[in-house]
Amino acid sequence: MRAVDLITKKRDGGELSSAEIEWFVRGFTAGDVPDYQAAALAMALYFRGMNSRETTDLTLAMANSGEKLDLSAAVSGTTVDKHSTGGVGDKTTLVVAPTVSACGAPVGKMSGRGLGHSGGTLDKLEAIPGFSSEVTAKQFHEQLREIGIVLAGQSAELAPADGKLYALRDVTGTVACVPLIASSIMSKKIAGGAQAIVLDVKTGNGAFTPTVASTRELAQLMVAIGKRSERRTVALISDMNQTLGSAVGNALELAEALDTLRGGGPPDFRAHCLLLAGQMLRLAGIAEDAAAGQRMAGKALADGSALAKFRALVAAQGGDVAYVDKPKKLPSATLTQSVEAEDDGFLARMEAIHIGRAAMMLGAGRARKGDPIDQSVGIVVHRKVGARVRAGGALFTIHANDADTLSRARREALRGVEITTEKAAALPLSYGVIE
Ligand code: URA
Repeated sequence: MRAVDLITKKRDGGELSSAEIEWFVRGFTAGDVPDYQAAALAMALYFRGMNSRETTDLTLAMANSGEKLDLSAAVSGTTVDKHSTGGVGDKTTLVVAPTVSACGAPVGKMSGRGLGHSGGTLDKLEAIPGFSSEVTAKQFHEQLREIGIVLAGQSAELAPADGKLYALRDVTGTVACVPLIASSIMSKKIAGGAQAIVLDVKTGNGAFTPTVASTRELAQLMVAIGKRSERRTVALISDMNQTLGSAVGNALELAEALDTLRGGGPPDFRAHCLLLAGQMLRLAGIAEDAAAGQRMAGKALADGSALAKFRALVAAQGGDVAYVDKPKKLPSATLTQSVEAEDDGFLARMEAIHIGRAAMMLGAGRARKGDPIDQSVGIVVHRKVGARVRAGGALFTIHANDADTLSRARREALRGVEITTEKAAALPLSYGVIE
């Protein structure tokens, strides 16, 4: 087989066979198919798509590209995982994983880095000096058994094909593609070995699937792949037309997550975390239903056990827990600028996509594969869609390290802002659950 033949077949609208998909994934993982051909195939897939058989084949081939964990031997009880399709200000894992673990469900999770305009859990965690997401399969088992929580990155051992393709998609404009997102997420989940999976599938201008219909299609595809792989899988369709919570940017988001773990945090973010935690605790068989799960999670946030679990996680993965105890030590930017409303009215739009792109411009994400990121920069939004605003009232604050990028980021963020004289409706948190 030749990679160029697969690329042209897909470019011309053909269907790839199971053998071709397996050959490509094996060759790409081994380095025999170079990045430029993988990028060309990703672009062909972006435009031509894949049917559900091709998507399932790609998922399983990527899951099989490394070791597959069997967590049933490592821990008693149902191991539960969650994954977001990516959003702006989405620091949910940092709160939900330790909360659910503190309630008694082991959470062993493979997380990702920033992708396109969306942030990544690992980049946020690495704002803590020393924190390492490089966890071997052996460590994964041991840590899960000992403290009931692991947040790992892709490695040469677990779904390495996804690790390579994910980094390539990030910088080749091929992220927003339903079969590529579904196979990326589900390959990690299957390799990670959790018996139950809660998917946080984002919809809106800041998501990779902007309409509720395309998001539902993605959610249904992933739930079907999960079922086929004998994982209890549920998807929550949640809003990404505006940022989740207030903070966008790695250290800023980590600080907000720590605030939430201390029982505070923005109300929308806290409510979203409780929704997901409720589903995870239900699937793990710890709570009899999602509402009971939410109550348990709320208690873990209130009594400090979720924060203690996060601290244990950081310590186990080499991070300096002094940063958990004193978030003020986290990296901070040298310049801040508050951006204010010019008129009285109601906030009709503050689009997540523009806030996310502005944060990228500031250095919070990557323009090229392997680029370093700036942990300290980002944006903190002060108003939610539907809120009343006054002329001169702060809409958001930019945290930057140079004046030029600050003014470019300001222009970008303002492109998504609209203030109207008539009342604007608040946005819902979620659009339903797919089982
Ligand atoms: N998260 C992933 O792990 N992969 C994607 O493609 C998108 C979000």
